[in-house]
Amino acid sequence: MRKTVCALHAELVRYGLVAWTAGNVSGRIPGEDLFVIKPSGVSYDDLTPESMVVCDLDGNLVEGDYAPSSDTAAHAYVYRHMPEVGGVVHTHSTYASAWAARGEAIPCVLTAMADEFGGEIPVGPFALIGGDDIGRGLVDTLKGHRSPAVLMQNHGVFTIGATPKAAVKAAVMCEDVARTVHVARQLGSVIPIEPKHIDALYDRYQNVYGQRSSK
Ligand SMILES: [Zn+2]
Repeated sequence: MRKTVCALHAELVRYGLVAWTAGNVSGRIPGEDLFVIKPSGVSYDDLTPESMVVCDLDGNLVEGDYAPSSDTAAHAYVYRHMPEVGGVVHTHSTYASAWAARGEAIPCVLTAMADEFGGEIPVGPFALIGGDDIGRGLVDTLKGHRSPAVLMQNHGVFTIGATPKAAVKAAVMCEDVARTVHVARQLGSVIPIEPKHIDALYDRYQNVYGQRSSK
C-alpha cells in the first residue's frame, strides 16, 4: 500500500492537479484499521514508499519517520464512517476549486459526468482544517449523492473510491468536467441532462462498461 499510494502521487502531478505540496492520496490497508497517507510538506519528487506514513482511523501516527499530511484528520473521518471506502484524494485543482470558491455545484450536463458521478458534483460546507469539521462535511455531503467527489466550499476537492486508484481517477475526472463545464458556460447556458437519462448512463457505465476483469 505504501508503494501504491506513493506512485499515485505522481499521477496528481502528471494530470496537473497540484501545485507545490498541496494535494494528497491515502489508501486503507485491507483488513486493518489503518491507512497509508502522504507525509506532510514533502515534495512529490522526494516521496518514496518508505516515506509514506501509516495512521490509525483516528488519524494518529502508527508508523513512519515523518508527520502525516495536515489533511489526515479528514481522511481518517471518511475511513471511520464509510467502511466501503478504500482510498481518499484531496487536491486544490484549479477548475474544480474555482467552482468551490463560488460554492456552486457542477451541474450534470455531460454524459461523462452522468457516467462517473451519477449527477451533479455537490458542494460541501465551509470548514476549517484541524478537527473533524472537514471530514463531517464530506461524509454528510457524500451520503446524499452518488458522486465520489465533493467540492468543499472555498477550499478544493475531496474524492473517494473503493481503491486509492479509483479515488485518483475521480479527482482527474472531476477536474476534467469542471474545466469543460466552465468553458461551456463562457458562451451561454448549459443544457441539463434529464434525470432518467442520467440514471441510465450511470447504470451502464458502472455495471456494463469496460473490461470485466479489470473492475
Ligand atoms: Zn486543502
